[in-house]
Amino acid sequence: MSDKNSSATADAKNSAEEEKDIVLYSVTNGVATVTMNRPTYHNAQNGRMTYELDKAFKRAVDDDSVKVIVLKGSGKHFSAGHDIGTPGRDINDSQERVSMWYDHANKEGGEFLYVREQEAYLGMCRRWREIPKPTIAAVQGACIAGGLMLAWVCDLIVATDDAFFSDPVVRMGIPGVEYFAHPYELNPRIAKEFLFTGDRMSAERAYQMGMVNRVSSRATLDADVQALAEKIGEMPRMGLLLTKQAINNVEDLQGKRAGMEAAFAWHHFSHAHNDLMTGHKLGGYDAKAMAAKNKEQD
Ligand code: ZN
Repeated sequence: MSDKNSSATADAKNSAEEEKDIVLYSVTNGVATVTMNRPTYHNAQNGRMTYELDKAFKRAVDDDSVKVIVLKGSGKHFSAGHDIGTPGRDINDSQERVSMWYDHANKEGGEFLYVREQEAYLGMCRRWREIPKPTIAAVQGACIAGGLMLAWVCDLIVATDDAFFSDPVVRMGIPGVEYFAHPYELNPRIAKEFLFTGDRMSAERAYQMGMVNRVSSRATLDADVQALAEKIGEMPRMGLLLTKQAINNVEDLQGKRAGMEAAFAWHHFSHAHNDLMTGHKLGGYDAKAMAAKNKEQD
């Protein structure tokens, strides 16, 4: 066996091992850390990861000793977004629903993606935003498209100085990701620029915009986030819960939830339009084609 083959075999083995535990869970000093663990694929979020994240969050919610929850990604990047092209892509698989929605896997036309995304993207993100404990996203490297949704549902975001954020899905003819929080995370004019160009926003700029709470570094991210989480964890559970509800409620009164409903409908009109025009719901783009286009811009 040549070196090349043995390393390919090793890679395949590593990849299989890694796919065993695609979400990790640990608790230290009252802080639960939920880790997306598909570093080979930059933590691309497939259906299985979505439902395992949900289980991990539920576990942290149910554990009275956990006061604060941290969401992070293993490896070089926080998240490359939804899985649109890894070998573990499982969009056609049924998942055990957590809501009253029915299965998407055997449906056709616009129903397939509409039903899937209603729970797996929009529904899950809303559910996680409403977790009755403070949540902190620890972001390093790329936080792209679906990755933004995961960071945005957290109450606080701490990012490394080399982190960057982007939502390039307008290139697919799609008006932003399913959890349409852009005009809340950024002001509307900046949100338009962010979407119209698909450009990367640096951690520093995201900090200036109020989207990121603190800028850290690769060397200190874990310690900084743990310290912040432990500090928050000193507050009474009920005080934290009510404060979170009060602020989320203000956002909803400002129209966040209703705005997202309309954006989700337009999002699905774009999937259906793409399908009619190109026979492909993402307008002919997969992960590779998107990465190549994004690279052209750099
Ligand atoms: Zn979609």
